[in-house]
Amino acid sequence: MAKRFICHGMLGKLCKLLRIIGVDASYSNEGMAILLTARKEGRIILTRNTRLRGKENVFFIETTRPARQLFDIVNTHDLWDEIAPFARCVVCNERLIVVEKENIKDKIPYYTYKNFDKYAQCPHCDRVYWKGSHYQNMMKEVEAILGVPLIES
Ligand SMILES: [Zn+2]
Repeated sequence: MAKRFICHGMLGKLCKLLRIIGVDASYSNEGMAILLTARKEGRIILTRNTRLRGKENVFFIETTRPARQLFDIVNTHDLWDEIAPFARCVVCNERLIVVEKENIKDKIPYYTYKNFDKYAQCPHCDRVYWKGSHYQNMMKEVEAILGVPLIES
């Protein structure tokens, strides 16, 4: 089963990076209650809070750099085979659903509609994703961090 995570406190950027590569990462800024939330949802806690260090299911993040944090997590938890870009909403962590472009025509700029054929949508926030320059830039950023080309799903 794919590993699930919960990013704590100041790890918002890391949370976004994990979602970009398709890893299930929720976010919380709870105090110690995060231990209960994580247990209930079967998630590993990623935190820089020293009070949580050493607790069950907690992965303490040593570095402040999000790029390094992402690399460490992918490496330590061996997520290499689970990387699936374009699979998860960066804003709310939901799995994206492939949609026909005719169905979301009113939600995207005309230029985009004319130039791109593949779209995915978040069932929670309705945000539409396509592989435009913003997406390509995100992929380049993550490829540079992980040092591997990301296979398009
Ligand atoms: Zn969403």
